[in-house]
Amino acid sequence: MTDLASMKRGEVRDYVRNLGMPAFRGDQIFTWIHRGADFAEMTNLPRSMQDRLREAAVAQPVSVMRSFQSRVDDTVKFLFSLRDGNCVEGVLMHYHHGYTLCVSTQVGCRMGCAFCASTLEGCVRSLSAGEMLGQILCANRFLGEKGRVHNVVLMGSGEPLDNYDAVIRFLNLLREEGGIGIGLRNVSLSTCGLVEKMRALADENLPVTLSLSLHAPNDRIRRMLMPVARVYPMEAVLDAARYYIERTGRRVILEYALVDGVNASPACARELAGRLRGMQCHVNLIPLNSVPERQLRGVTESQVRAFLKELELARISATRRREMGDDIAGACGQLRRHTLNSTEKREAADTDDETLFSPEGGGGGEDGRLPL
Ligand code: SAH
Repeated sequence: MTDLASMKRGEVRDYVRNLGMPAFRGDQIFTWIHRGADFAEMTNLPRSMQDRLREAAVAQPVSVMRSFQSRVDDTVKFLFSLRDGNCVEGVLMHYHHGYTLCVSTQVGCRMGCAFCASTLEGCVRSLSAGEMLGQILCANRFLGEKGRVHNVVLMGSGEPLDNYDAVIRFLNLLREEGGIGIGLRNVSLSTCGLVEKMRALADENLPVTLSLSLHAPNDRIRRMLMPVARVYPMEAVLDAARYYIERTGRRVILEYALVDGVNASPACARELAGRLRGMQCHVNLIPLNSVPERQLRGVTESQVRAFLKELELARISATRRREMGDDIAGACGQLRRHTLNSTEKREAADTDDETLFSPEGGGGGEDGRLPL
């Protein structure tokens, strides 16, 4: 089946032309898809055309399997189902400036970060551009008259830069004429720090905000939390971030989840500040969402304040991320795991053995993980 939602406008035109339809039908179909419509809802297409398309192609590759509305704020957590039976999560947050959707880029993840639930069973597969777009289309349909998604953060399950081509295609889809119309200035892409891909992204010259999951002030601690740090030393990752700043003129966001007894001491804050001096960046402190499968603890409010204070003293711009939808939540990947566990849909044998990021020539491995 042809994945129409992954296609640019011109590609949809070419596709319908090959089916013997006039090219302007392609523009109509493209716009319908970006409004979240299925073929049956494309009311300005002849019925015969709808039927023909339905046999050969898919308009909406994502649907909402379940949604959970927070009781403490307006946050909604979605479990999205994909056509092959896989599912991914998304979180819709309501800020004063509009709705933000956290979008997944892969089913699972192979980066193996010690605190993250998405990676516990490795990466099942990467999503197509249309499947990323489809998550936004589902959220827009869910919102209906209440509004639409204005901001997108690629911070759901998966490592966006490990699915580079599809992510770039998705970003370009967002700003196609007649499409969903989300400006790339309203998009943040979060990465665990794949250096070559960060540099390639900088060279694409797209005005997206880059978030870098740093989570440590030095390589020793970073390697305990993130196997990927065995492949890319922190200095190389920070250099790639500096390159991004230089090429795009945009400051980079550094994400830092505070883990008790690992990276949260005032000394860690001072060391971090030293490394970031002079860099056009902003540190986003994330309270650790505890994942039952990972025996890592978050920190107290006073530890967060002490850490922030050290950064402020060193004149490093920093804030603490607001926690939203705590009651429905779950950190990355928790909801999907709960569903998988409770329905026992997948068996252990189904999963890849790609949990750990294994670089060419070795270097990853068990020693890249916290001894849990
Ligand atoms: N793979 C990308 C994007 C997905 S995760 C990345 O690594 O950046 C989005 C953010 O949530 C990352 O900063 C990630 O490190 C963080 N995260 C994952 N699990 C978490 C948890 N249990 N508590 C707090 N933050 C978490």
